Amino acid sequence: MAGIDQVEMAAGFLRKGGLIAFPTETVYGLGADARNEAAVAQVFAVKGRPAHNPLIVHVSSVAMARECAAEWGADCEALAEAFWPGPLTLVVKRNESIPSIVCAGGDTVAIRMPDHPTALALIERFGGPIVGPSANRSGQVSPTTAAHVFEQFGGEVIVLAADACERGIESTVVDMTCEKAAVLRRGVIGAEQIAQVVGRAVDDLGDQIAAGQAASPGLQERHYAPSTPARLVDDVTELGGEWVLLAYSRLDAGVRGIAMPTEPDAYARRLYAALREADAMGAKEILIERPPQEGATEGASAIWRAIHDRLARATR
Ligand code: AMP
Ligand code: MG
Repeated sequence: MAGIDQVEMAAGFLRKGGLIAFPTETVYGLGADARNEAAVAQVFAVKGRPAHNPLIVHVSSVAMARECAAEWGADCEALAEAFWPGPLTLVVKRNESIPSIVCAGGDTVAIRMPDHPTALALIERFGGPIVGPSANRSGQVSPTTAAHVFEQFGGEVIVLAADACERGIESTVVDMTCEKAAVLRRGVIGAEQIAQVVGRAVDDLGDQIAAGQAASPGLQERHYAPSTPARLVDDVTELGGEWVLLAYSRLDAGVRGIAMPTEPDAYARRLYAALREADAMGAKEILIERPPQEGATEGASAIWRAIHDRLARATR
């Protein structure tokens, strides 16, 4: 993790309304004081993020989460107990300590506690919640290393550097404000695992949202996309042309591309870096060999579903 003096300096910078990119277990975030409207506005500006796409508030304790929420029920308590710190974001009613801009003008706020020592130390030192959208320009591939952030923002943003992100894709977002909890964005924690903790069925709206049949702020856009056009394929043997391949498991001799891992957690960890590397190869197209839909366990299947969600958005 980053040295304590670096964390202290970064926290001081946040206090002055500055922006700090920081590591989490999912992707690198672009941090700012969640209660400082001007700082949050700067996050939207630097990312080029549309104002209708709300930000996730990052906390270092459940007590801090409760302070951001107007309502924090037993289900939220149980989910935080089971999965925090970790890649699960809870959408709850917002209280007035969180400015409207954070939540894109809505009356709910998305909250999570990241599972990363540097992120937790930063929030603790700062002493309050920070927003932390992925530290990339809106629509582009999320950063999973400090170098990715630097490539994108150069000297514009200070980066608290640590190792590559362990999970590699964004958190699961679950709406806790409706009668039945509902997964809005898929992540490594699946609806099934959430249902087990709350003791009742949980909707997975992933497919409906992707198809535009259900609304979720910010999830309609093309996302996670390399600048080279990308396409999912089942078979590359017949295809000619100037492409690079994100191969599932095996890259045949003479084929230009990257062999992806076969296990879903390793695939997720590698995905965004691989998309960036493929982008840099300068081909006309990136072909992505479709990975499996299902894994050996329910947990593995949930990760594949989250990966397919990101692949669909990257190739839209
Ligand atoms: P990112 O910051 O790139 O990880 O994206 C955060 C995503 O979380 C947004 O694009 C929304 O899809 C979701 N989100 C954040 N706040 C809310 C909210 N209040 N209600 C529903 N979804 C939210
Ligand atoms: Mg993002």
